[in-house]
Amino acid sequence: MKWDVLVVGSGPAGATSAYTLAKEGAKVLLVDIKRAPGVPVQCAEFVPIQLKHSFPEFFPEEVIAQEVGEMIHFTPWGEVVSMYSEGYVLHRDRFDRRITELALSEGAHLRLRTRFLGFEDGKAWLEHIDSRERYPVQARWVIGADGPRSKVAKLTGPHTESFLTTAQFTVPLKVPVRDLLIYFRDYIPGGYGWIFPKGDVANVGVGIDPSYPINVMESLRRFFREVLSEGIVGEKILSRTGGWIPAEGVKGPLRGDVLLVGDAGGFCHPITGGGIANAVLTGSMAARSILEGSPEEFEEEAMELLGSSLNRAAQKRVKYMKSWDDLKSIVPKTWIAFEEYWKEE
Ligand SMILES: Cc1cc2nc3c(=O)[nH]c(=O)nc-3n(C[C@H](O)[C@H](O)[C@H](O)COP(=O)(O)OP(=O)(O)OC[C@H]3O[C@@H](n4cnc5c(N)ncnc54)[C@H](O)[C@@H]3O)c2cc1C
Repeated sequence: MKWDVLVVGSGPAGATSAYTLAKEGAKVLLVDIKRAPGVPVQCAEFVPIQLKHSFPEFFPEEVIAQEVGEMIHFTPWGEVVSMYSEGYVLHRDRFDRRITELALSEGAHLRLRTRFLGFEDGKAWLEHIDSRERYPVQARWVIGADGPRSKVAKLTGPHTESFLTTAQFTVPLKVPVRDLLIYFRDYIPGGYGWIFPKGDVANVGVGIDPSYPINVMESLRRFFREVLSEGIVGEKILSRTGGWIPAEGVKGPLRGDVLLVGDAGGFCHPITGGGIANAVLTGSMAARSILEGSPEEFEEEAMELLGSSLNRAAQKRVKYMKSWDDLKSIVPKTWIAFEEYWKEE
C-alpha cells in the first residue's frame, strides 16, 4: 500500500497533522515508539487560551486540569512581575490521546511501538519495537513530528544541537494557586524554575542550560527545597519527569518531500520552552499545505508566523545567557514579561 503521508510521532504536532489530513480523505499512517500516545508525560502542561479558540475540538472538559490567569515572576532582586497569561494547565496525556483519537476517527492509521529508522531507496523504514521486524513503507510525503531529538530532521539536514535540560516533580499543593509561578535563580543557570498548578497538585520543575556546571537534578532539588520552605507545596513526590527543549530556533522545516513540525523543526520557544501551541499550529499548517499541493507555503507561513520570534529568542540566548552572574541585567533582556525584552537591539 502506498500512503499519501507518513507522520512520524503522535505528539501534538504529528497527531494534529494526521487529523487535518485524514479529515480531508488523505491516506495517513501515523507511527510512534510509545505504547500509548502522550505517555509518559514530559511537560509542565501549560497552553495559552488562544489554542482552545483555534482548536476547540482538542479541548473536551477532561483534558483541562486547571485554568490560570497570570504568570507571576519572582526575581532574585526581590521584584515580582506579573504578566497576563490566560490559559490552561492540561492533562497532557489526555490531550495527546484526544488529538490522536480524532485522527483515528477520521480514518488515519496508527502503529504504536513502531520506530522510524531512516530512508532507503525512496522508502521510509520502520521497526516494530517488540518483534524487531523491520519493513519499508512508501509515502508521497513524510511529516517529521518526532520531537526535540528528531531523527527525521537529523537525516534530512540541519537539526537542533543545543537543548535546555529539564527535570520536574509533581507534588501536592498546600495552598490554592491560580497562576503560573516563575522563578529566576542563580542556581538555575540559563533557565528558570516553575510551579504550574493542576488543582490540588502542581508541576514543580527547572530547565537549565546544560553547559553550566550544575546537574539538573541538583538544581531541581534546591528549587524544591526553596518552595517547600515557602509552604507552597507538600514534600511527597507523586511523579518525576524531564526532557529536552530545543534551544536554537527554527531549522528549515521544508526538505523536499519531508516537512518538519513541532519540536522536530525547532518550533519551541528557546527561552520559555513553550512548544505545545506551536506544535499544533505547525502540524496543522503542514497538513493544509500538503492538501493544497503547495508545501512551500508551509515554510513561508510558519516562518512568517513564528520564525522571527523564535529565532530572536534563540539569538538572545546566545548573546546574554552564556553567563549567569548579573541576573538583574540578564533576566529583563531575556524574558518576555519585561519591557526590555521587546526593545530593538
Ligand atoms: C519538562 C518540560 C516541560 C515543558 N512544559 C511545557 C509547557 O508547559 N507548555 C508548552 O507549551 N510546552 C512545554 N514543553 C515543550 C513541549 O512539551 C513540546 O514543545 C511539545 O511536546 C512538542 O510537541 P511535538 O509533537 O513536536 O513533540 P513531542 O510531544 O515530543 O512528540 C514527539 C513524538 O515522537 C515520538 N518519536 C520520537 N522519535 C521517534 C521515532 N524515531 N519513531 C517514531 N516515533 C518517534 C515520541 O515518542 C513522541 O510521542 C515542555 C517540555 C519539557 C521537556
